[in-house]
Amino acid sequence: MLRRLLAELTHFFALLLWGASALAFVSGLPELGIAIIAVIVVNAIFAVVQQARADRAADRLQQMLPTRVTVRRDGRRRLVDAIDVVVGDVLLLESGDRVPADARTTAANRLLVDTSMLTGESAAAAVESGAALFAGTFVVEGDTTAVVTATGAQTRLAGIARMTTAAHPDTPLTRGLRGVVRVTAGIAIGAGLLFLVISMLVGDPIRDAFVFAIGVTVALVPEGLLPTVTLSLALGSERMAKRRILVRNLEAVETLGSTTFICTDKTGTLTRNEMTVVRAWTSAGAVSIDGAGYAPSAALDWASPTAEPAVRALAIAAERCSTGYAEDAGGTWRPHGDPMEAAVDVFARRLGVDTDADRRSSPPELRFPFDSALRRMAVVLADEVLVKGAPDTVLPLCGDVGDAATVVDELTGRGLRVIAVAAAPRGGRTPSNQREAEADVRLLGLLALEDPPRDDVADALAACRRAGVRVGMITGDHPATARAIADEVGLRGPDGPVLVGGDLPADDQHLGALLDHDGVVVARVSPEDKLRIARALQARGHVVAMTGDGVNDAPALHEADIGVAMGRGGTDVAREAADLVLLDDSFAGIVAGIEQGRATYVNIRRFLTYHLTDNVAELTPFVVWALSGGQFPLALGVLQIIALDLGTDTLSAVALGAEKPAKHLLEGPPVGGRLMNATVLRRAFGVLGPLEALLTMGAFTVSLVALGWRPGDAFPSGPDLMAASGAAFMTVVLAQTANAFACRSSTRWPGSLGWFTNRLLVVAVLAELAFSLIVLWWPVVAGVLGQANPPLAGWAVALASMPTLLAVDALDKRLRRRRARPHPPAAAGGVPGAGLRARPTA
Ligand code: ADP
Ligand code: MG
Repeated sequence: MLRRLLAELTHFFALLLWGASALAFVSGLPELGIAIIAVIVVNAIFAVVQQARADRAADRLQQMLPTRVTVRRDGRRRLVDAIDVVVGDVLLLESGDRVPADARTTAANRLLVDTSMLTGESAAAAVESGAALFAGTFVVEGDTTAVVTATGAQTRLAGIARMTTAAHPDTPLTRGLRGVVRVTAGIAIGAGLLFLVISMLVGDPIRDAFVFAIGVTVALVPEGLLPTVTLSLALGSERMAKRRILVRNLEAVETLGSTTFICTDKTGTLTRNEMTVVRAWTSAGAVSIDGAGYAPSAALDWASPTAEPAVRALAIAAERCSTGYAEDAGGTWRPHGDPMEAAVDVFARRLGVDTDADRRSSPPELRFPFDSALRRMAVVLADEVLVKGAPDTVLPLCGDVGDAATVVDELTGRGLRVIAVAAAPRGGRTPSNQREAEADVRLLGLLALEDPPRDDVADALAACRRAGVRVGMITGDHPATARAIADEVGLRGPDGPVLVGGDLPADDQHLGALLDHDGVVVARVSPEDKLRIARALQARGHVVAMTGDGVNDAPALHEADIGVAMGRGGTDVAREAADLVLLDDSFAGIVAGIEQGRATYVNIRRFLTYHLTDNVAELTPFVVWALSGGQFPLALGVLQIIALDLGTDTLSAVALGAEKPAKHLLEGPPVGGRLMNATVLRRAFGVLGPLEALLTMGAFTVSLVALGWRPGDAFPSGPDLMAASGAAFMTVVLAQTANAFACRSSTRWPGSLGWFTNRLLVVAVLAELAFSLIVLWWPVVAGVLGQANPPLAGWAVALASMPTLLAVDALDKRLRRRRARPHPPAAAGGVPGAGLRARPTA
């Protein structure tokens, strides 16, 4: 905490302000110097508190997705939280797993480990039995058992983490914002120097010149902006967490809002990933299975009773090459590992096979795990070789397959996922690679699995359409299955194309044009295809969200603007590469995330507008003073401006950053583009800012007149000037109060949102009012600030500034809406290309 505070006290703005404060002391203005130090300290504390809140939010998010590992305890496989692993535990690791602790491998099988997080070495290295494995690395291929040798702080990973400071890499958003802030600060310093020169030319005492210069600089420096943005992103990610979406980096919240294309996979995301084998086919006959869930009881409907031995052999072979399994967890049967393999295990049990005993008696000697590019896997047992995978990759390996191809067409056409299982006698060989192992296999049969679509997908898809977000299904499954599911959930448009990964054009531009349609379906894609698809869509200006689950999907997840992994299914590798983890694996989660992302983006614009508006009001007195050649007195003094910045800006900005998503957010095209867009600039610098400045100068002048000053007279000083200045001060305060409400929407009258619906804002505004009245009425403080209670006329203008600002704002919004009306709202149909965000080239 202390170190952070120190960092906040010494960052760019703070240094700027320290300089200003030193100048103030040097020029004999200790009050000003102290006030500026107060600004620095309060801002630093504010930033640290915000950061702490954001961190706490991130921690809570982290806890929502515990890493789970499979261990063997008391001779049984168990899934435990990684933090519960102890020295001596036997880990069962396979492709896609993150190694949870330092360990020694005992039975490594073709093990390849990615150690880049420890060594920076990007190529995965082969690891032999007996070698060391380190926590934090990933198994990318093969599998192994390993005995834990060190956990937690004793691991090598922890040692390295201690050495390197946990620096958060800058995200484009923070870099962009820092740019905004730097430019503003540059302007602030420039303006300060300009005023210094002017006031010296005008012949002011050097001391006053300094005061002005410092005042202008302090007024324009947007100190509170960055921490407020961070907090607003953190709040956004917390809201997402409530909807079971985990944001792995805060910036993703913002990118989500500008997403224009979602590439979703099918299994688990559009479907429930609750698989059941509903039909098994062999050349000797078939069987239909009617059973719910993963329990080993079901009704079997034999097409021909003589098929039983062949089907049983098929089931045993399929189960022997699966690692996923179902387990009785206190009365209900739960899947472990790949749900499809769990379904295979259940199918074998339903045929009366004791799969536990069978797998123990014939363990694989060599495993070639499922590879999403090959779409099949193989195991070598003591006396046989088994292959299981997508029919179109397995059937060509087998000699005579009878009418299997027709059966595949029929089953996939019904939306079923079909896998083929083949076998060959081992004949004493020890194959050195998968191709060799698969030689001479013979087809045993086909298994057709049902995986019903999720209930909420149709609604979520409709929401995407209204939101102008295109959706494509990118799946490794069979084109007919993909098409059937796409039709069932309403993803595919009428005559929407169903493309096949292998047939995609080699030319990226061509590919982009082919894919850039809502409801496109691409089947049989490999991870490389996914990567190309992401790039091709990005090249067309899309902000792409891409889902993935396998080890090989990591590059595509990295490449997409938003990589989406699944919290339940999928591998640790995919989760590590993703920006977003859907804890419920549901497609609807992506849509909810887009909504929250848009809300956060809009919120940042809200408080940017709010923040910038009062800069105009604060700067104007200096401009007037300078333009009058120092004749017209300063309506607001430097200390008053500091009080305004500190007491009246920060809280409301935070409250605006926490504004809840508006209902219509998903009804229009994606929000996105620059944070400081034309609307923000126009509202802050074109409408609200000038208005607030006008009101402030008005209140000041009216107060002067009320106190007896007439145009042409010499300007008063002393108590009269202080009272008039008090009027200007209260006008900024009250106008900003109204402005805070006006900024809650850039298109709608705040009353229509309900005045009290942002509770935090109401509290913030009340606190700010209380603060400003104290510094106005408490004589000691007011004296230092150079203000006093304004005359009645001044109060009248100050109070009138609230309805005036709201009225002008409402008028402005209405005019803009009228001008925007000729264009129909971007509803049904899809995204107009013009709504897309121009992608930065870097
Ligand atoms: P999806 O996009 O549906 O998740 P995958 O790339 O995971 O597709 O799978 C593609 C195909 O590979 C599946 O249709 C299935 O035929 C086959 N397949 C998937 N998982 C396994 C597995 N564990 N063992 C064998 N074959 C599998
Ligand atoms: Mg899959």
